[in-house]
Amino acid sequence: MPDAGTSRTLGELRAAGYRVLPVREEMRKNLLARLGRAERILPGIIGFDDTVIPEIENAVLAGHHMVFLGERGQAKSRVIRGLTSLLDPLVPVIAACPISDNPFAPICRECKRRLAAEGEALAIAWIGPDERYGEKLATPDVSMADLVGEIDPIKVAEGRYLADEETIHYGLIPRTNRGIFAINELPDLTEKVQVGLFNLMEEKDVQIKGYKIRLPLDVVIVASANPEDYTSRGRIITPLKDRFDVQIRTHYPRTIEDEIAIMEQEMPVFDREAAAVRIPDFMKEIVAHLTFEARGSNEINQSSGVSVRVTINNYESLLSNAEKRSVRLGEREIVPRLTDLHSVLASTAGKIELEYVGEDKRENDLIDRLINRAVLKVWDKYLKVEGLKKVTEHFEAGWGVEVSDRMRGHPPDPRAPRGRGAARPLREPGPHGRGHRVRARGPPSPPEAQQGPRRRTVHVPRLV
Ligand SMILES: [Zn+2]
Repeated sequence: MPDAGTSRTLGELRAAGYRVLPVREEMRKNLLARLGRAERILPGIIGFDDTVIPEIENAVLAGHHMVFLGERGQAKSRVIRGLTSLLDPLVPVIAACPISDNPFAPICRECKRRLAAEGEALAIAWIGPDERYGEKLATPDVSMADLVGEIDPIKVAEGRYLADEETIHYGLIPRTNRGIFAINELPDLTEKVQVGLFNLMEEKDVQIKGYKIRLPLDVVIVASANPEDYTSRGRIITPLKDRFDVQIRTHYPRTIEDEIAIMEQEMPVFDREAAAVRIPDFMKEIVAHLTFEARGSNEINQSSGVSVRVTINNYESLLSNAEKRSVRLGEREIVPRLTDLHSVLASTAGKIELEYVGEDKRENDLIDRLINRAVLKVWDKYLKVEGLKKVTEHFEAGWGVEVSDRMRGHPPDPRAPRGRGAARPLREPGPHGRGHRVRARGPPSPPEAQQGPRRRTVHVPRLV
């Protein structure tokens, strides 16, 4: 684009041969350029390469209005925000215009007047993609005033005619003129606001307090919704639904590898002191499998879904529990282990919706079962029962192993306080039963350590 960012007046812009494109054409142009260079669109979006992204590309090339349908935590907002990467790095607007008017063809009355008065000397400003993006989470409280604008009584008092655009205090969508506006959870808008939105998209005019005001905005409106809400009768007015040319269905990661890649990408990096963080792959896999198990559970409401955020937060909880241990025991490494898994209860509960409402205990029981299933899945991947004969014989003979999330992972550091030993086999017979028990017998602990889930008895399914 000639002259991007340098012209300061309309005259300079015109002399440089700059041409303002409608947003859709601008996105199309930039997408075609990317495709020509074999570059990815939406970097950082994992697992949609063969499903969602090709559909977005087609929709952008066709200039279609898109609605993204998906359960919670499927990166819908992130995908929509990522569309701003298809905008030019800088575009010219009329300086100080609240709706980022096109310098060659302003739509607001004040800019029209300024253009007439100042001509080629009209001041230009340049804005980037971030300033051209707006979003709103739809709720029944969202009004036309929020989205489109309202009559400003002060301006009316100044003697301006009511149907004059200069009496409007612009709302979110006009302020995103020449950009992309996202409405998340579209079905939660009231019918009245949906009608207003439709008029804005279709007729380019709006009704504010009974006055029809023409507002030929250039905005790409993208929406998202939960599929069940979107398709259920009466939640979306038919003309608005028809206005969205394509429905793009998002989904959860299809593979454990994608789930892990997302969780590693999204986890905030804390400065974890000097300790080295080492997370065994099997622990990452257990966290990812736990979410997969939850998504497959008929005890959980799958129409609201199990967000990728469950995985991310569980991973953080696990790491924090391991970090506490390393600090308490003065270890130089932070290494999560199976006995840290109880820490995911708190970060899973509340993010899943049980099918049948019951007492809290049921939720924790369910999560416990999901954890056990996830552990078993990963166990089966890495270990074969046949190769463990010696180990199982050991347990059958009544031996046990002490485990705890408070025990040292390595032989004790001679500088560490006494009484905090490493995991060691017990020299006494354990109980026999339907399964084998690995007994959690920690060393004597200071009084403050007695609170919380310190000792865990891990139930190991019978292997032979
Ligand atoms: Zn203007």
